[in-house]
Amino acid sequence: MNDIKKVAFVTGASRGIGKAIVEKLASDGFKVGFSYVSSDEKAKAIVDEMTEKGLEVFSVKFDVKNFQEVEDAFDKIYEEHGRIDVLVNNAGITRDKLFSRMKEDDFDQVIDTNLKGIFNCSKQVARKMSKQKSGRIINISSLAGLVGNIGQVNYSASKAGVIGFTRSLAAELGAYGITVNAVAPGLIKTDMTDAIPDQIREGMIKAVPLKRIGQPEDIGNVVGFLAGETGSYITGQVISVDGVLSSI
Ligand code: NAP
Repeated sequence: MNDIKKVAFVTGASRGIGKAIVEKLASDGFKVGFSYVSSDEKAKAIVDEMTEKGLEVFSVKFDVKNFQEVEDAFDKIYEEHGRIDVLVNNAGITRDKLFSRMKEDDFDQVIDTNLKGIFNCSKQVARKMSKQKSGRIINISSLAGLVGNIGQVNYSASKAGVIGFTRSLAAELGAYGITVNAVAPGLIKTDMTDAIPDQIREGMIKAVPLKRIGQPEDIGNVVGFLAGETGSYITGQVISVDGVLSSI
C-alpha cells in the first residue's frame, strides 16, 4: 500500500476562497501548503486552527508576481515536503476602475498577479510533475474572464488569459499524466466582493437565478473534486461555479 501523503499547494489562501480550498483539500487527506503576501497573522491563525482539527497545513510567504521569490519558495517547499501533487493557482487581486481612469499601474498589477503569477508558480511544478507522471494544476479564473464587466478591463483580461493558459498547458502536459483545469467563480462572499458598494452587490445578487451569493466552500468543493480521483479524466476545462450568472 502506498502510504505517502499527497501534497497540495494553494496560492493566496490567507482568507476567502483560498482558505476554503485549503480546508477542503486538507479534510480530503492532503498535506496542504498555502501562500499569502502580507497577512501574517491570518495565515498563522489558519495553520493553528487547522492543526487543532488534526489537519496537516503549512504556510509560506511570497509574492506570486516575483519570479525569483516564487522559485526560491518552491525550492524550499520541495526540499521540506518532497513533492507537490496538486497546485491551485488562486492568488488574485482587483483594481476596478472605468477604462478612462485606469492607470498603467492598475493594469500591470492585476496582470502580473492574476496571470503572470500563474505562470510563475506553474513553472515551478510542471517539470517535477512530469517526472512524477502525475499532477493536477487548477487555476482560479472568473466569470469576468468569460463575459465583459464594466470597470474590469484589467481583471477581465487577466482572467480570460488564465483560460487560454489553462487550455494550452492542458494540451502540453496531458501526455505526462497531468491535468490542467480552470474554475470560474461568479460572485462569492469574500473580502474582494465585500469591497463592492452594497447597492451594486445587491443588484448583482438579484441577477443570479439561484438568488444568493456563492460561498467560498462552493469553490472549495469543486476544486476538491478536480484534485481527487473524481477529476482524473477531466482536463483543459473551465468549470463555472456561479449560480448560472454566466449563461444570462
Ligand atoms: P481575497 O479574499 O481578496 O484574497 C486574496 C488572496 O490572495 C489573499 O490570500 C492574498 O494574500 C492573496 N494575494 C494577493 N496578492 C498576492 C500576491 N501578489 N502574492 C501572493 N498572494 C497574493 O480574494 P478571493 O475573493 O478569495 O479570490 C480568490 C481568487 O478567486 C482570486 O483569483 C479571484 O480573482 C478569484 N475570484 C473571486 C471571486 C469572488 O467573487 N470573490 C469571483 C471570481 C474569481 P494577503 O491576505 O496576504 O493579501
